[in-house]
Formats: sequence, C-alpha cells, structure tokens
Amino acid sequence: MIYLKSESEIDKMRESARLVSRTLAEVGKLIEPGVTTGKLDRVAEEYISKHNARPAFKGYGPKGNEFPGTLCVSVNDEVVHGIPGERILEEGDIVSIDCGVEKDGYFGDHAFTFAVGECDEEVINLLRVTLESLYKGIGQAVHGNRMGDLANAIQTHNEKHGYGVVKDLVGHGLGKSLHEDPSVPNFGRKGRGERLRSGMTLAVEPMITMGSWRVNTLEDGWTVVTADGSLAAHFEHDIVVREGKAEILSTFDYIAELTKNQETILYHG
Ligand code: MG
Ligand code: MG
Repeated sequence: MIYLKSESEIDKMRESARLVSRTLAEVGKLIEPGVTTGKLDRVAEEYISKHNARPAFKGYGPKGNEFPGTLCVSVNDEVVHGIPGERILEEGDIVSIDCGVEKDGYFGDHAFTFAVGECDEEVINLLRVTLESLYKGIGQAVHGNRMGDLANAIQTHNEKHGYGVVKDLVGHGLGKSLHEDPSVPNFGRKGRGERLRSGMTLAVEPMITMGSWRVNTLEDGWTVVTADGSLAAHFEHDIVVREGKAEILSTFDYIAELTKNQETILYHG
C-alpha cells in the first residue's frame, strides 16, 4: 500500500529530513583519522535528542537483535548497516554514515559517504559517481514515470564506470514509517515497475561497489559487506515525487558548509 502525502505531511517530512542533514554534518565535522565510530554515534544521538526527535534506527529490527546504534557506520567494504563501536577510522578509509530520525511522527533517513583524510583518486571517483547516480535517479522521479526509469538511470550510470550495483538491498518509501511501500531498486528496466505519482515520498539510496554487486551479511546479523572485499559507497536522499521535477527534502548543503574536506566529493564533477 503506497501512501501519498499531503503538503502538511510533506512539511513535517522536510523537517525530519533536514534534521538528519544537520546531524550528518555534525558527525562529518568529526570524521578524521583516529576517531572511533562509537564517538560519531554518541554525538549523533545527543544532537538528535537535543532537537526533540528520536533516533529511528536504535532498537529497530528483530527481537533479540535490535540495531544498537543511532547511526549505521559502514567502513570500506562494509556496504550498509555497520554497527558503531570501537573501530578507529584510518587515513584513506571511506565511511558511510546513515542516519534516521522520527520527529513529530514522521521519519527522515539519509546517508553520505565521507572520505577520511586523503583518499586515492580512484576511491574519490567511486564516491563521486555514486553521488551523481543518486541525482540521475532523482531526475527520473517525476509524476507519470515508472520506478524502472529511476532505477535504470542509477544502474546505467554506475555500470558505465564499471562499478557493481548492489541488488540485495534497495531504497524504499518512507513517511509515518521508516520503511513503506514501494521498494526503490537501483537496477531495473525503463518503462517498467510502479507508476510514480505526485506525493509519493521515497528514500533513494544507491549502494555501489568497485567490484562485484554480490554482498554478504556478517554474523552480527546486520553488517552487509561486499562478497569480494571491494570498497562500497552509499548516498541517500529523501524526496517527493512531483509534476515535472522531484523535490529533494534532505540536503548535503550543511555537509558542504561544515566539512571542507569533502569538497572533492561534492564538487569534483
Ligand atoms: Mg533508507
Ligand atoms: Mg538510510
């Protein structure tokens, strides 16, 4: 069941999405060699609580193995759902920070992959191309198009660069729940799939690897890693499908302002 949102609901979703955007920037300021992933998580939780919201990932999942963090922190070959803890970030790592909040009954869920210190040119390229593909997908998220148009735009841009497009995990609708219908895959055929309609709110999130698209889940039940050990990037925006052009509810502008070292990713292309 797909719930189309009213403008007043979209206003609340924009609030939630922007809070995630600001949280990502607060975390991004601290990303440098030597910081632990657990430290980033504590800063995010504090920031979200201070802004009258609730971390949406903490406690999410199956009974007995609920996700313990406020952030999913996924380093290098970890694609998504990495558990924050004692791991220390090192120069040249890449780290996906994925954050969800619930504020005033509506959810925000978005993600940015940061370079830690100086990264190799080919690694920066992976980040840049993945980010570009996110915007290419969003460019197709207009009323009347099909989900396959969005999915295919993401897939073809990444495959053109020789990257792997993860298929086991997909984006999703969101709103009053963290995960709503429909699924938003990062691969597919033009003209196929769900018809996109104004008022659909989606989390679009390409998960792209430098090698194979195949992934495994670690024994912790959460951390998804590339099967071949290749590096993976992940960017996510919350959007509303509209006539003519989608509206992006979340923003990377705060990251651009607060974390100068990410300029190569944001503005390189
Ligand atoms: Mg998501
Ligand atoms: Mg997310």
